[in-house]
Amino acid sequence: MRNIVAGNWKSNKLMNEAREFTDAFLPALDELNGTTEVYIAPPAPYLAALTPSASGRLQWASQQCSAHGAGAYTGEFTAEMVRSAGAQGVLIGHSERREGFGESEEAVRAKVQHALKAGLRVFLCCGESLEQREAGQPERVIFAQLESALDGVSDTSDLVIAYEPIWAIGTGRTASSEQAQDMHQSIRGWLAERFGAPVAAGIPILYGGSCKPSNAEELFSQPDVNGGLIGGASLNVEDFLELVRIADAVSAS
Ligand code: PEP
Repeated sequence: MRNIVAGNWKSNKLMNEAREFTDAFLPALDELNGTTEVYIAPPAPYLAALTPSASGRLQWASQQCSAHGAGAYTGEFTAEMVRSAGAQGVLIGHSERREGFGESEEAVRAKVQHALKAGLRVFLCCGESLEQREAGQPERVIFAQLESALDGVSDTSDLVIAYEPIWAIGTGRTASSEQAQDMHQSIRGWLAERFGAPVAAGIPILYGGSCKPSNAEELFSQPDVNGGLIGGASLNVEDFLELVRIADAVSAS
């Protein structure tokens, strides 16, 4: 399976800064010649302007989409709109949306269904809080999130799981490579029970949470870690390129 490195810009960068990033990033990415799939999720208003500037390897994603189809939903944008703006993927269930914007399990499930139907690659985010980890068995929290979000899903060809422990997002505190591998292996086991082992073996599971050039090699080298979902370090061209280089090197070794 090819590694994936996906950048989540969150609410950062103005349009001119986004263009400056892509002007520097795209030619440098083209020179790398690796196999890692690369995605960037910019602020949604920039998608239609940025998606024509693709390279062989860079694909674009939205940071979320509506739980509804088209209609009277002021301010919402549907998965089909994301697709028609030229994006190939969408992040769903990011902890900042679940916690900060009241995104319920039902909404996450509806978004997954709309996005898969629209032909988008779904980056389904899951993760436990520090309290949930310290209470023991954080796997149970993750399994419950997956169970709910993937209810009714049978075709996983566009599914990517992003394990993002909430205590590691934007905190500078990374999960150790053992903690990441343990959870990724458990997630793989859950996927195997749900979809069968051969299918589970082909579903990418990304790690997210303060992943940066200094810790990426160890994380990406774990057998069940297939790359990363990157917040802060995706805002800087050199850091993000370095993460792609590391993912390329790990899969070539
Ligand atoms: C994220 O929000 O998806 C994320 C991984 O953020 P950071 O890398 O900044 O911790």
